[in-house]
Amino acid sequence: MVDVDVTMETSVDDAYATGAMVRAEEWQAVISAGDGAAAALNILTRERGEHFHDFDVPADAEATFGDD
Ligand SMILES: Cc1cc2nc3c(=O)[nH]c(=O)nc-3n(C[C@H](O)[C@H](O)[C@H](O)COP(=O)(O)OP(=O)(O)OC[C@H]3O[C@@H](n4cnc5c(N)ncnc54)[C@H](O)[C@@H]3O)c2cc1C
Repeated sequence: MVDVDVTMETSVDDAYATGAMVRAEEWQAVISAGDGAAAALNILTRERGEHFHDFDVPADAEATFGDD
């Protein structure tokens, strides 16, 4: 048995598991795609050494929402 968390990272080093292989009931294409996106962001974050955002941030976001 291999454990997997919400980032799709497994308890095996550098191994990710997504979609139908990790879910007993929620078999939908969009869930598998989302799992893959979560895994990709986690991999990019690990490679960069800091949290990776893959969306654009408006220039005034920090003033509006703070820097957290
Ligand atoms: C009859 C049916 C109807 C469905 N209808 C819908 C629907 O209308 N809408 C919807 O959203 N979802 C639907 N689903 C569910 C959807 O198909 C799955 O949730 C989705 O395909 C899971 O994607 P996945 O990438 O996790 O796995 P899969 O699509 O199963 O992909 C896994 C891939 O890995 C390959 N593979 C397996 N073992 C190995 C190996 N050792 N080495 C290399 N490759 C390997 C397989 O050949 C396969 O191509 C349906 C499922 C079924 C069975």
